[in-house]
Order: sequence, then C-alpha cells, then structure tokens
Amino acid sequence: MYKTDVNYGPKIEYAHCNGCGTCYEHCPLDIFSWDDEKRIPIVAYPGECSCCCFCEIMCPEVAIDVHLPLHHMLDFGIAPVNLKNEHKIIDRK
Ligand code: SF4
Ligand code: SF4
Repeated sequence: MYKTDVNYGPKIEYAHCNGCGTCYEHCPLDIFSWDDEKRIPIVAYPGECSCCCFCEIMCPEVAIDVHLPLHHMLDFGIAPVNLKNEHKIIDRK
C-alpha cells in the first residue's frame, strides 16, 4: 500500500500531464511509481521526498508543484500562503 499521509512532496495536476515519464525516470529518490494502464505517474512515497524540486523543474508541462514541509518554509523564511493572506488582512485594518 502506498504512503500518502504527508502534506508535502510533489503534487501532480493530471489535467496537464502528458505522460512523458520524465518525473518517473529522473527522480533521484524514486518517489514516483508508474500506472501502465493510464500512462501517468503516481506519487507513491511522498514521505521520502527530499523536496529537491527536480521533477517540478524538469516537467515539460509544468504539471508538478512540490509542496515544502512547514519547517522548510520557516527555515527559508517563506510564509505559507494562508499566513501571508492573514498578514495582508491585518495590514488593511
Ligand atoms: S514530467 Fe510532467 S508531464 Fe511528464 S509524466 Fe511527469 S507530471 Fe506528467
Ligand atoms: S522533489 Fe526531488 S525527491 Fe521529491 S519527487 Fe521531485 S525529484 Fe523526487
């Protein structure tokens, strides 16, 4: 059974995926499995993703968005979107 119980790692927008297999073939940590019938990648092991973003950069259809763990975002000074929005709301008052 695949592990899908983490909120970080690659998220695939299947409406944009052309089934080229680039992410599946080049992920250094083998996070993706491959659905032969539908010819699409599946995020099989998101909990082991290093968030290197190689798949996101290499995807020719810009179909992948790698979500960073909260502690990575805080380490790099990137506020999550909802916190940014809260900040804007506070500024307007
Ligand atoms: S690299 Fe992008 S277009 Fe190619 S299989 Fe992966 S998600 Fe789909
Ligand atoms: S971010 Fe890096 S480790 Fe994670 S799925 Fe993409 S290529 Fe693999």
